[in-house]
Amino acid sequence: MKNNRNNIFLNLQGQTNQSPYLIDVDKAEGIYIWDKDGKRYMDMIAGVAVNNIGHRHPKVIEAIQQQLDKHLHVMVYGEYIQDAQLELAENLASILPENLSCSYVVNSGTEANEAAIKLAKRYTGRQEIISCKNSYHGSTHGSLSVTGNDEKQSSFKPLLPNIQFIEFNNIESLAIITEKTACVLIETIQGDAGLVKPTQEFIEALREKCTATGALLIFDEVQVGMGRTGKLFAFEHYDVIPDILTLGKALGGGMPIGAFISSKEVMHSLTHNPMLGHITTFGGHPINCAAANASINVLKEENWITEADAKGQLLENILAQSAEIKEIRRAGLFFAIEMESADKVAQVVEKCLEKGLIGFWFLSTPTAFRISPPLSISEEEIKEAGEIILNSI
Ligand code: PLP
Repeated sequence: MKNNRNNIFLNLQGQTNQSPYLIDVDKAEGIYIWDKDGKRYMDMIAGVAVNNIGHRHPKVIEAIQQQLDKHLHVMVYGEYIQDAQLELAENLASILPENLSCSYVVNSGTEANEAAIKLAKRYTGRQEIISCKNSYHGSTHGSLSVTGNDEKQSSFKPLLPNIQFIEFNNIESLAIITEKTACVLIETIQGDAGLVKPTQEFIEALREKCTATGALLIFDEVQVGMGRTGKLFAFEHYDVIPDILTLGKALGGGMPIGAFISSKEVMHSLTHNPMLGHITTFGGHPINCAAANASINVLKEENWITEADAKGQLLENILAQSAEIKEIRRAGLFFAIEMESADKVAQVVEKCLEKGLIGFWFLSTPTAFRISPPLSISEEEIKEAGEIILNSI
């Protein structure tokens, strides 16, 4: 039975790598996932920074059920007025600065970035795009073009032209931003680079250079948004506001969604020259918007975001006892745990799995593993997780 299911998975489902985890999921609730044999796993990665409010939060389930009873898809995005979309737009506007009041809801993080780049080109009338080395912005052609990773790009060339890469945290490299630059797209805190925070000086200088040249500044918070780093949005740590913000992952409370957000003035350039500048059939699907609304409301009602840093510190203190950990980089409840080698990372992650704890890799940092649990995790659960990781090391 088990072999048969593995075979179907491995042969009839497209694969992304040659050694998938193969956890055969039965159900998930809170911070736990159970497999078909009844084994319980602590989900210490939250489906890669998606289940920030835990799996199947009751308020998300209720919102989905209520929406199911009203309607599913009724029309492509942007034509009809739909309760769930309207409420989400209001909800997002209520938690974001004034210049980020107009949101456009799409299907994924990568689509949000694709559309944000298009929006910047259309609004500025410029063609040059700047992004960062070691970044990750998604897997479709446009987002891959701005992903600063030669290995990930090389087999898929040609990609988008007119893209240049700056070094994260290198103020001198900002010199290439000019009046020809349509946008600079960066992750506010780099995630798959193994968690790299910007310095205050760098992010302020970047904002100033964009303002001075008229280039739009895009922050990709697909991974670090929605409370993950101890603030609702990572840019709040730095008091620097982008012209366009992209979201995804945790925004949907477990449902697939993405969004790009700007001022109304910038956003509405997509309505003409050409009209339908960005269109999507399923973007803003009412079920996903209802789930996103409920998820934002949960984050507003609970203290999980304000508690994230203290909880993160608790886990950091426990892990700091291990002499084998070379470095812990952390923002709120998002950890990159640096080991001496990729082999050691593989051993630790495998041992954790055996002991019922899920950790995961970074796309471009083989010597570190990620921990990004649901923000709803309790102190007791953090202590238990810390012990399991220490024992696995
Ligand atoms: N941007 C960042 C920073 C991400 O981490 C990711 C996914 O990991 C994406 C964009 C792409 O999002 P999606 O996988 O929903 O297309």
